[in-house]
Amino acid sequence: MKIAVIGSGYVGLVVGTCFADTGNKIYCVDVDEKKIARLQAGEVPIYEPGLEELIKRNVEEGRLLFSTDVATAIKKASVIFIAVGTPPGEDGSADLRYVLAVADSIGTHMESPKTVVLKSTVPVGTNKKVRARIAAKTKIDFDVVSNPEFLKEGAAIEDFTKPDRVVIGCETEAARKVMEELYSPYLRTGKPLLCMDPASAEMTKYAANAMLATRISFMNEMARICEVVGADVNHVRKGIGTDARIGFPFLFAGVGYGGSCFPKDVRALVQTAKEHGYQPHIVPAVEEVNEEQKHLLVQKVFKHFGKDLKGKHFALWGLAFKPKTDDMREAPSLVVVEGLRAAGATVTAFDPEAMKETKRMIGDAITYADNALDACKGADALILVTEWSEFRHLDLEEIKPLLKGRVLFDGRNIWDPARVRAQGFEYYGIGVR
Ligand code: NAD
Repeated sequence: MKIAVIGSGYVGLVVGTCFADTGNKIYCVDVDEKKIARLQAGEVPIYEPGLEELIKRNVEEGRLLFSTDVATAIKKASVIFIAVGTPPGEDGSADLRYVLAVADSIGTHMESPKTVVLKSTVPVGTNKKVRARIAAKTKIDFDVVSNPEFLKEGAAIEDFTKPDRVVIGCETEAARKVMEELYSPYLRTGKPLLCMDPASAEMTKYAANAMLATRISFMNEMARICEVVGADVNHVRKGIGTDARIGFPFLFAGVGYGGSCFPKDVRALVQTAKEHGYQPHIVPAVEEVNEEQKHLLVQKVFKHFGKDLKGKHFALWGLAFKPKTDDMREAPSLVVVEGLRAAGATVTAFDPEAMKETKRMIGDAITYADNALDACKGADALILVTEWSEFRHLDLEEIKPLLKGRVLFDGRNIWDPARVRAQGFEYYGIGVR
């Protein structure tokens, strides 16, 4: 099939490249000229494990093209994926201006029937809006399919090519057949393609993210209660995760969730519900707990050092909102850095992939180290924010001569408190004894 993927970001690039890898011809387009120029020069603008070699192979074999020419891509493709951003508007609702601009372009440039696929995360009712915007500009036949994406950054290729399920919201048999054919290479293990109405497909994405965010906030709240009653959330996590009705995924206490999806999708779901006259109860609380949680590490630093941090210097490990990505959108590290700096402290950070993006966002507000050990030089304490696997095996003998202080703040509970304390360090985790 000839496919246009409009929007070549974290989702569009992965979707386009994976579909190219199953033999389709893909036009990956974007309005960001710099991004496309880098892709055309063989450079991958984001960090996503395995993506670079997959792009290289499919470009070399002529199945993957990058361009800013949206009109040509629309004309040539029979299937058009919309994968542009849907950032939060001022009131938290999803800003649909990029999605609707693409709908207008499709209506303007299409010269033959198309299957338009909404891959972006969009509120219930967007499928209808996109349909109306395209129909206002053309008399040619088209379908609009809602096909939310469930990939996780850091494991995006694996998630996309081995999905737990594919969700399709469509109203015609022809569109369903196109989607079945496209996704069939990924569903050979028997995982289902779930067909439903577009509103339910749109809602499924928000319900999934709200559920996962709820598990994280729930566990963070349990951690806060553990702290005040003297229990250990690590034991509690094992105690409840082993219950088959509960399970282990998304049960880790920490400094809160970030990224481009959970925060904005949770807020957008609240807004959508309100717009339709329903005031949700659980979902706003999920967001509230998370906001508090992002400030918790700084509160712990204050408890140890006092609220005036002038003259104090901190080593910070991990900036990205989670490991294996360079994505800094809504990263808890930004809240930690801001809190420390506002109290007069200085910070030296190290992250394996996200330092370039952090520099772009906050410039010289902090200094950047070449490696994890260098970040520790002269610091009064070490703060871990993102649990990159290389931080897990902490060699305290190596760190001791570098750190000025003997304090560790572990924002992801990855270190063993007993071991750390036995080596003369004070240890602060999240809800652990
Ligand atoms: P992104 O910001 O990385 O990429 C969006 C791209 O769209 C940008 O490169 C931007 O330049 C481009 N764009 C904007 N307007 C355009 C236009 N008119 N024509 C062509 N290109 C245009 O965003 P992302 O993280 O890839 O997310 C895209 C969508 O997928 C969002 O709705 C998001 O919620 C959803 N989603 C994201 C993830 C994730 O992990 N990032 C997972 C599932 C779903």
